[in-house]
Amino acid sequence: MRLLSTHRSELNQLFVFELSDGYKVESVFYRGDTLCISTQVGCAIKCPFCLSGSLGLVRNLSSEEIYAQYDLLKDTLPIRRIAVAGIGEPLMNYPNVVMSFWRFKNMGLKVSFYTIGFPHTYLGHLIKLPHNGITVSIHSTRADKRKKLIPHGGNLETLISTLRKEIEGLSKRKKKKISLAYLLLKGINDSYEELEEFVRLVSELGVSATLLYYNDTGSFKAPSEQEYEERFLFLKKHGIKVTLSTRFRKDKLGGCGMLLVNRV
Ligand code: SF4
Repeated sequence: MRLLSTHRSELNQLFVFELSDGYKVESVFYRGDTLCISTQVGCAIKCPFCLSGSLGLVRNLSSEEIYAQYDLLKDTLPIRRIAVAGIGEPLMNYPNVVMSFWRFKNMGLKVSFYTIGFPHTYLGHLIKLPHNGITVSIHSTRADKRKKLIPHGGNLETLISTLRKEIEGLSKRKKKKISLAYLLLKGINDSYEELEEFVRLVSELGVSATLLYYNDTGSFKAPSEQEYEERFLFLKKHGIKVTLSTRFRKDKLGGCGMLLVNRV
């Protein structure tokens, strides 16, 4: 595996790696200390708002290939955190992801995960790791709608009961390290009625929430800044801990949903 090219915007640095069989994956360095890494070539979940899943799954990355994204950059960048949030669903390649997790931990790095929470059994395992945050994509509390937004992401009811069971015994502080993500899509899931349902779920579980901004990949419309802000204030008013997409995640280069398989 080798570093093929580097791309820069004002906020992010994107790295394209070529694997030994010629496929390419991407990593993003952002916030001055965090490397977002990929775990698969492509993705089987095929969320319609994400470019990484548009080709489906090609193959899993080995634990070596996951680790190498950090290893090839560590001498030139001040990486202190790893976000397992690039191309691929980490739970779909769990054995290799967990092997690289322990290597990162042994290097003293903080590791956080972004997942759709499926397969559910692995979500239970993931929650038990000494992680630095897990963000689970919900995007809708309505099963039929979630199925459209996360087509191969398992059953919503089972996801919620898994979360209930795995989170139950955790301290208040540990519960807050788990966040439910809601990607706000104009005219799709942005009604206050649906946001109220989301608040109820977040409150019941005692976790945090992340309100994600949609980077335009051509399939949906993003709410305006004002609509986004209003929904954020609505969530806050209901007493849940909520964070917003950072400007790094909203960047066209390397932002959420913008990583490509085999960029040319
Ligand atoms: S959002 Fe995540 S799970 Fe969905 S297609 Fe993209 S990489 Fe896969």
